[in-house]
Amino acid sequence: MNPVIWWIRRDLRLHDNQALHHALQLGVPIIPLFILDPTFDASSCVGEARRDWLWGALAELETDLRSRNAQLLVRRGAPVTVLAELVAATQAQQIVAEADASPYAVSRDRAIRRNLPLHLVPGVGIQALGAVTKDDGLPYTVYTPYNRRFKAHWRGQWAATSATLLPAPVAIAFPHDLPLTSDPLPVARNTSADFPPGEGAARARLLRFIQGDRAPVHAYGLERDRPDHAGTSQLSPYFRFGQISAREAAILAVQAVERAPTDTARDQAEIWLDELIWREFYQTILMRFPRVREQSFRPEYDHIRWRNEPAEFDAWCAGQTGYPFVDAAMRQLRAIGWMHNRARMAVASFLVKDLLIDWRWGERWFMQQLLDGDPAANNGGWQWAAGTGTDAAPYFRIFNPVSQGTKHDPMGNYVRRWVPELAKLPPGVIHEPWKLTASEQRHLGCVIGRDYPARMVDHSMARERTLAAYKAALGSR
Ligand code: FAD
Repeated sequence: MNPVIWWIRRDLRLHDNQALHHALQLGVPIIPLFILDPTFDASSCVGEARRDWLWGALAELETDLRSRNAQLLVRRGAPVTVLAELVAATQAQQIVAEADASPYAVSRDRAIRRNLPLHLVPGVGIQALGAVTKDDGLPYTVYTPYNRRFKAHWRGQWAATSATLLPAPVAIAFPHDLPLTSDPLPVARNTSADFPPGEGAARARLLRFIQGDRAPVHAYGLERDRPDHAGTSQLSPYFRFGQISAREAAILAVQAVERAPTDTARDQAEIWLDELIWREFYQTILMRFPRVREQSFRPEYDHIRWRNEPAEFDAWCAGQTGYPFVDAAMRQLRAIGWMHNRARMAVASFLVKDLLIDWRWGERWFMQQLLDGDPAANNGGWQWAAGTGTDAAPYFRIFNPVSQGTKHDPMGNYVRRWVPELAKLPPGVIHEPWKLTASEQRHLGCVIGRDYPARMVDHSMARERTLAAYKAALGSR
């Protein structure tokens, strides 16, 4: 029986895996394959943390496969070459993989399908990417109507989908008789204590967040803007590499909505479902408008004259801007490869609208640092913050880096955790340490300009500068 190749890309899981399921249905031996693509190695958009995390996640998957009497085959090389060689050597009848949205994945798969039997199935999203369109077949470019249509399209059927969630197989028929050699899997140099890789860790985290009558998901909407609390699921790295199925998460979210003990709890859980739909929306935008990787979704904003001051960009990256909330977030990113969503919005606004630095610089830095760095969600988030994207915040909406802190980190605990030099400052002043007198600064062990940087820019001045730059760009069309 000719085997099938299950080409694993960003679906590092055994539960509810539609590509694996398709392979199992064929009833032939399965070769689970991961390709170490030199394009990924060479990409300046992939930093060490995400690479390491992927190696750790693959090692976990390998263990899970071994417990099903199968192996993970690892091959290094250009996917088209690796697959052609493997098909020839094994006489594989088919290659099955999850369809992906990024321009690189789409053009790679298109090229492979010209000569090889690559079969793509859904799985990256809750529904097949691109399934939700307007009546005329065109893609939605605004989130709210997309969300409405998405729910109408999918939610009516969710109970049926729940029944067909795919269990992890107990065994996988691997062709042990074939002389298959594997390249070594790179070893992770650093592992993340905050985000242990692996499907087991992902599932445990999802269930902790969503199961039970008073699960965190039932307070999500109330808590999600507090970076000083752990009120969000912190599942994004697991969604990034598919250690959790988006479809399963969405079904559990609908179940959480339906069994919520109060109307408030119900609304909170619904908001979490909406976040999963944001993820899907941005995947669709990237797939249907691949130009957003380089250009503003709204082309009129490509005329902005950015300042692009390298020293200022470096200070932002290092968490040395002199604005405590921004610095806490940027240091959190560097330390653990993850940043709270509220903080992502604040630091993105600061880079683009206080420093007038091109959003693409920030987008790239995030891709290099984030464990969850995802071309679609990251681009969507940056274009939103810059005011250049689909549902973008209007350009004149400029976050105040101080009030973001006082509002969303009122006691200053988030700042204290990530900016230890400010640890002794009381809540009233921790987001504006420059307001302390010189003797108060000395007393609290934090002299501005010595122990902690002075503000690199005056927010009011920066605000006016940005408004002028955006207006000029719009006027120059
Ligand atoms: P939760 O709040 O628990 O949400 C559940 C899941 O929904 C998330 O894990 C994520 O998969 C999805 N989600 C939530 N919010 C969004 C959103 N706004 N857009 C798309 N998906 C969302 N998310 C990424 O996964 N990768 C990125 O590279 C990324 N870059 C971002 C850059 C900027 C400038 C901004 C403003 C947002 C970015 N986001 C990105 C979206 C969001 O910040 C993260 O998904 C979220 O903080 C992850 O934390 P969580 O898992 O606790 O999310």
